Amino acid sequence: MRQWPDLTGQRFGMLVVTAQAESTATGQRRWVCRCDCGNERIVMGSNLKRGTTVSCGCKRYKNLEGQKIGKLTVIGRSDKYGSRGKRKTQLWECKCECGAITYKATDTLTNPDISMCQDCANKYAASKARANAGFKDGTQLTKIVDMTPTAANTSGVRGVYYEKKINKWRARLRFKGKTMSFGTFTRFEDAVFARKEAEKIYFGEFLEANGLELKEYNEE
Ligand SMILES: [Zn+2]
Ligand SMILES: [Zn+2]
Repeated sequence: MRQWPDLTGQRFGMLVVTAQAESTATGQRRWVCRCDCGNERIVMGSNLKRGTTVSCGCKRYKNLEGQKIGKLTVIGRSDKYGSRGKRKTQLWECKCECGAITYKATDTLTNPDISMCQDCANKYAASKARANAGFKDGTQLTKIVDMTPTAANTSGVRGVYYEKKINKWRARLRFKGKTMSFGTFTRFEDAVFARKEAEKIYFGEFLEANGLELKEYNEE
């Protein structure tokens, strides 16, 4: 009978043998190993010595170092761990496009939709929510696409207001959070014309860029 050495305390890759485990039915010796990632695993002695098993399984993940995924560039493996159910998973140290350092597990890192730091993820979620509400760059698309005057507007044309003080019509346009004036006019029609021209200039390009068309509001 061949004399097997006691492997307790020995290191094989990321594994350190902590105790002997029950041998297999065919008498092959097995060892309890603690992986550097914190997981425990029972490994056959032959696999340890041949170098077939070098971790609890966490090392099977491909090395993502230097890769750019989503907004993140992988710096390397960190000494931080996250949990995936009962398992622990080593986290990658990553640098976000915004400059922030963040730690990601392989599964979240390799998903380009969420491959970003928490700050960027929050901004992304907020911009998505705004997009769903019809906002883009601070302008609500659903509002500018439909030019029907609001209830508060008395002229019948959006962006055209009568200014009692000066006895004139004013053409205004709100775009990307800013209200711009396009002059005051004695004739209502002139103010409407100014507003329509402003719409073409400011909204036309903007809507085109977003694949939308301006619905003309007909006041006649
Ligand atoms: Zn491991
Ligand atoms: Zn970021």
